[in-house]
Amino acid sequence: MLKQSEEGNSIRLAEKFLELLAEKFDINYPRSELQTALDQIERKLLAEWAELYCEQSRSYVDDLLPIWEQIPETRFRELSFGNDRESVESIESVESDKSDDSAETLPAIQFGKGDQQINIEGRIDRIDVGYKDGQELFTVIDYKTGKIPSVKNEDISAGTSLQLALYAVAVMRLKLLGENATPWQVGYWGIKEKGYVAKFVRNSKKGPQQLAEETLAHWEEMLENVLPAMVQSIRQGEFPVYSTNEKCIERCPFNTICRVNQIRSLPPQLEKIWSFQKNIE
Ligand code: SF4
Repeated sequence: MLKQSEEGNSIRLAEKFLELLAEKFDINYPRSELQTALDQIERKLLAEWAELYCEQSRSYVDDLLPIWEQIPETRFRELSFGNDRESVESIESVESDKSDDSAETLPAIQFGKGDQQINIEGRIDRIDVGYKDGQELFTVIDYKTGKIPSVKNEDISAGTSLQLALYAVAVMRLKLLGENATPWQVGYWGIKEKGYVAKFVRNSKKGPQQLAEETLAHWEEMLENVLPAMVQSIRQGEFPVYSTNEKCIERCPFNTICRVNQIRSLPPQLEKIWSFQKNIE
């Protein structure tokens, strides 16, 4: 359970959220009646989310506190990398508190070698930092307004769900938190659902688990191979017609015209998947 002071923080968080919301919507500029009505609806929905978000935050902190030595500190929000278009060279280190609010730019992350080398840019919604047994840890969080995707390790090698793995590797390669910070977890925060959900770790009665070192090493290796291969496939005009969701056609109103549905019965090798995926076990 949260201590009283933490409860107070949680209430202040909701109040601050509502304050910022009012500030945003109270800006006076010409609007149509329709736009005003839409604004009112949006404002109401966002105000409802303030309470929900506080609940979600409370449960996220409650889960972590028996393990971490402190309440997680959100060190970065909406952090872009690869926005330094003049230079894609690696940086030695980046001091703390970089966010889109600052004028700092971060280089792209490079994957692959030689003429296969590619630069990847992205934006990380949130990075939380804390300590366990003196070790600095970080969690990469991506907000989702819709359903939280289900992801597994095979999705990394197949190139179908790279975001969280890429962000964890990006934080380490950019040395955003220094040399010694280790990933604790990566996960999605379903803002209309139950908040933070860790991915790539097993659910355990012992509480939240840390990402395995082997998982991270596997991600690095996979991203080194998969990302350049994907880019090369796209450059060669490969755009496979494929959906991993075998059941998506059941309720889809477009299923009679969708090409995914039309070629579903064909074997994957018939240009339904990227060429590099044919070599994946
Ligand atoms: S458009 Fe096609 S791939 Fe997308 S959900 Fe509908 S049937 Fe599935």
